Amino acid sequence: MKWFLKGIVLALSVLAVGTAAAQDAPLRVVATTTIVADVARQIGGDLVTVTALVPVDSDAHAFEPAPQDVQGVADAQLVLAVGADYEAFLGGLMENAASVPLVIVNTGVEMYGFSDGHADDPHADEPLGVLGEAGVCEAVPAADDHEHGSCDPHTWTDPRNVMLWADTIAAALTAIDPANADTYTANAAAYQAVLQDAFDGMTETLSVVPAERRRLVTNHEFMSYFARAFDFEVAGVVIPGGTTGGENDPQMVAGLIDHIRTLGVSVIFAEASASTQVIDMLAQDAGVNVVTTLSESLTAPDGLAPTYLDYLRVNAQTIADALREE
Ligand SMILES: [Zn+2]
Repeated sequence: MKWFLKGIVLALSVLAVGTAAAQDAPLRVVATTTIVADVARQIGGDLVTVTALVPVDSDAHAFEPAPQDVQGVADAQLVLAVGADYEAFLGGLMENAASVPLVIVNTGVEMYGFSDGHADDPHADEPLGVLGEAGVCEAVPAADDHEHGSCDPHTWTDPRNVMLWADTIAAALTAIDPANADTYTANAAAYQAVLQDAFDGMTETLSVVPAERRRLVTNHEFMSYFARAFDFEVAGVVIPGGTTGGENDPQMVAGLIDHIRTLGVSVIFAEASASTQVIDMLAQDAGVNVVTTLSESLTAPDGLAPTYLDYLRVNAQTIADALREE
């Protein structure tokens, strides 16, 4: 072998060793929210390191990425997002990461529109359709020619939707790391069993709430999948439009106060990661209590809900305690 060929062979073998070593390192996964990140850790285990873009105790609707987030996404091997127009901040980040695969965890999940608290809408119980891989809500075929609003992305308030996330995440990890396909599949199956138990546990916890008190008035509309799953009704929302950034006018607030009085609602639900200014004022005017739930985010490790399972348990217990028969 000529000397220069030996050199090339040597260089190639060094490259091969380098590649093998890189595959042994955990996969770098970026999730948009702490909830998606926790679910990804359950599926990836030791084979992944997952970072969340939106910090704990924070509101994804109000999130603005920092320069290190741009770098983190560009360096990732996989980005996981909720989709359905939830992450307004993601488009700019992905522009700098054209080669990084973006997977929408809600792919295959049946999406519903926002009711904006109008539970009497005859179409409120009709799904808009199943979310496609692109995660674009407009691509969801409408059930009929009724004018639907945009998709409600807050699917994680029903753990049965997150059981579908588990399959999607396992498939996404397998696509970039096929050697560990069996581990991802097994982890997803084990976590799905845990989520089924969580769903059953929530049903049991909420069984103390009588039918006539199963009405939720929330800060912004994030509980509609929870409501459908556990036989509640979203009776009103303080901030319209499905995000915490919506604005309400005095007339709407007055209408909601009337509505709350008519229904005999005694509690309205604020959220830990959003301002309570409007909801506190409204509660005072309506003479009802404010109880805080978890909406977009997990808490820090020493908080109430560092994992998604804690999130589910805490919200079910909080709502059961607030609405049970006095
Ligand atoms: Zn939200």
